[in-house]
Amino acid sequence: MVKIVRSAYEGIIKHAESGYPNEVCGVLIGKDEEITNFKECRNLNQERARDRYELDDRSFNEADNWARSNGMDILGIYHSHPDHASEYSEFDRQRAWPYWIYMIFSINSGKYNDARAWILKDFGSHFEEEKIELISD
Ligand SMILES: [Zn+2]
Repeated sequence: MVKIVRSAYEGIIKHAESGYPNEVCGVLIGKDEEITNFKECRNLNQERARDRYELDDRSFNEADNWARSNGMDILGIYHSHPDHASEYSEFDRQRAWPYWIYMIFSINSGKYNDARAWILKDFGSHFEEEKIELISD
């Protein structure tokens, strides 16, 4: 079960919709397995921005510092799939870190479709889907 506050969830949807038709990415921040904040990151992959993302190290570090100074941690990463399902790709799986939450937001023709959360289990062998629960702020 992945818990995320509604305002963060809706904020990510806005980010994903405004970035369409490109993939956007960012980090999920929170405490005790509960996502309360997010930070948009730059997608360094401009050549294949429609179907790949590469998180910019600098914006990642800034988000990490911000999280720590607020007593929180980075819990995972989100990215969008423009005109694609919220299913992970093989590329996503290969690049994922164990135990982090990976949320994928499916955006169809610029509008939010759905989102699913994935966690890599057993040191990288497979992703498992986690149910998303929206909680109030
Ligand atoms: Zn992906």
